[in-house]
Amino acid sequence: MSAPLKSTENMSVKIPSNPIPAKPGTLRITESYACIEGEGITLGAPTFLIRLSGCNLRCWWCDSKFSSFSDDEAREIAWEALRDQALASNTAWISFTGGEPTWRDAGELVSLAKVCHALRSAGRKIKVETNGLLLPEILADEVDLWSVAPKWDGSKEGQTEAMRWDASMLAQFAGRFGNAGRLQFKFVITFNSAGKPRSSDLDEARKILQTASAPSSVPVFLIPEGLTDQEAYLDRNRALQDKVSLNLTSWSGWDLRVGTQWHRILHGDSRKK
Ligand code: SF4
Repeated sequence: MSAPLKSTENMSVKIPSNPIPAKPGTLRITESYACIEGEGITLGAPTFLIRLSGCNLRCWWCDSKFSSFSDDEAREIAWEALRDQALASNTAWISFTGGEPTWRDAGELVSLAKVCHALRSAGRKIKVETNGLLLPEILADEVDLWSVAPKWDGSKEGQTEAMRWDASMLAQFAGRFGNAGRLQFKFVITFNSAGKPRSSDLDEARKILQTASAPSSVPVFLIPEGLTDQEAYLDRNRALQDKVSLNLTSWSGWDLRVGTQWHRILHGDSRKK
């Protein structure tokens, strides 16, 4: 097993080939808290967020490196304790994010499936945020909303090993959950030095949707790359809306939403909001 990685901007770091095993019956998490969902089709929904530790990618713009690039903050918690925390929050939605929730060893996936099953049995809804590289069968029927955000790198050379998408896996997500109202796609759009959304990112998003044969009923969110400065982030939102509005025909056939991350606008980069 590879040694845990430290947070870094240097993309020459190696991605561990296997997830770090959790103790039997536990999940490796960084944090958990109740919040108001800030993006996607569950925008505004009171949500109990559970951030799982560890990720199989190294995106240079990742806003949760403390959970994806490093295990410094990781702790193990019994799945029953996590279930009880989520139930006590009284939120209808429970969101598993990361890191990459699907990138677990077999034992931890069992614990994850158990907590999802228990929460759904208690009437809660489960969302899983994923980069779409893995679809563990044990989770497939325990999730109400797969929120798939494919990753690529069209802007910085030499980083493609750390960011990638898998056409056949995305087609599986689209085929199994697309027409069942259990899928949304999210694409982070980066910006050039002039503050304009990169056309190459918009092209890549369309290519992925075409390759995955995403059904027209699946909500597709374009989200501006995050910024610490809230005013500058609003400018990015305006610029993305303007650019997409100029070429709407290129998105026909998909349920497009030019989205944003409201938690960034309201709270900046502060955690636990
Ligand atoms: S896939 Fe998500 S959690 Fe993992 S490095 Fe990329 S942005 Fe961060």
